[in-house]
Amino acid sequence: MRIVILISFFIAAGNIVLFAQKKCATAEYQRQQNANLNIANQKQRIDNFILSRLNKNSITANQRPAEAVIKIPVVVHVVYHFPEENLPDETIHKQIAALNRDYRKANSDTVNTPAAFKSKAADCNIEFELAKTDPLGRATTGIERVYSPIKKWTMDDKVKSSATYGTNAWDARYYLNIWICNLSDLLGYGTTPGDDLKNDGIVLSLLAVNNLDDGGSYSKGRTAVHEIGHWLGLRHLWGDADCGDDNVADTPKQTTYTPGCPTGVRVSCNNSEAGDMYMNFMDFTDDPCTNLFTKGQKDRMRVLFELGGYRNSILSSKALGAPWSQNIPLPDDAPQWLYPQVYPNPVNDELTLDLRYDARWIGKELIIINASGQLVHQLTISSKIEKIYTAQWKPGIYFIRGKKEGEKFSTKFIRL
Ligand SMILES: [Zn+2]
Repeated sequence: MRIVILISFFIAAGNIVLFAQKKCATAEYQRQQNANLNIANQKQRIDNFILSRLNKNSITANQRPAEAVIKIPVVVHVVYHFPEENLPDETIHKQIAALNRDYRKANSDTVNTPAAFKSKAADCNIEFELAKTDPLGRATTGIERVYSPIKKWTMDDKVKSSATYGTNAWDARYYLNIWICNLSDLLGYGTTPGDDLKNDGIVLSLLAVNNLDDGGSYSKGRTAVHEIGHWLGLRHLWGDADCGDDNVADTPKQTTYTPGCPTGVRVSCNNSEAGDMYMNFMDFTDDPCTNLFTKGQKDRMRVLFELGGYRNSILSSKALGAPWSQNIPLPDDAPQWLYPQVYPNPVNDELTLDLRYDARWIGKELIIINASGQLVHQLTISSKIEKIYTAQWKPGIYFIRGKKEGEKFSTKFIRL
């Protein structure tokens, strides 16, 4: 009986810790993505490439040419519902500065790196800069602001598509896409090399970006540092398993993630006298208590930019060059039209058209046609909720079509 109680206690305690520590959902996201065999195979090929290049590099390490700084063009998509979620440029600039600080080992808290790990700490020679030119060649600040009717997001990638009220990635071969939104119960998640390009990039919660400099758990913009680590192929130090492998030679094995802000030596997995490297950016430790990437992690990230590497295309990006188009993107205060919701579907006698997401539909015309293409109903929208009485209609499929400035809307429903 006592054993049962003890086991229950540990399970409960474990769950509490896990719940409080949903810092990064990348591992869970990867498990979902890898269910797609094409993606899993592509990742295997990328892994093989990295491994072959790293082996080659280790032989020729001394003959390596002077290392160039890798510049990564960034687009930040701020997807907001409430005005306060529409983070000011200044906050975005601070986040980018935090990335450059840590990826260039310019962080003042390198002094906190334990003596045993100091020689492993790396200047990754990777820098980040907001795009100056968008994919159509137009001038940009590198910050895109999109109003959304959605108040909360999860790791289902809906924030990455305008069809689901988020906003689409810019061509991920040439841009690092960062979405910032009200992410539920998570600080962030990232794709890893080989994921679907339309989802490629990282998603950050407001919490992770909006508290820089407050001295708290998320005050150093290191959720982004961590998620971009994933985007550049790094895994969690514990390899997402008990004493698992992160495929990096100079990071010690450790049992699991480290919550909070520990001090002292924590030995696990018989790693060494120096213990866990819980101050590594790829652990879950609070922002003020992390301070390094290792040389092994650096090599793994940089290999992706070599010829034939998955991120090599970034080096030929035109995003940091001068714009070549005179066109001006739509201003932020004119978001794209949001489609009406139609319910219930299937319907019996009363269909609701919910236009609350975009009041600009008012005054516009909608038509409903049947499967034979005959006009059944026509209406001019006069309120945010429109009711359509379908009791007299024959059972079958019906199509609703609408048109506004340059955009068409079409959906269908079934009359039972
Ligand atoms: Zn992570």
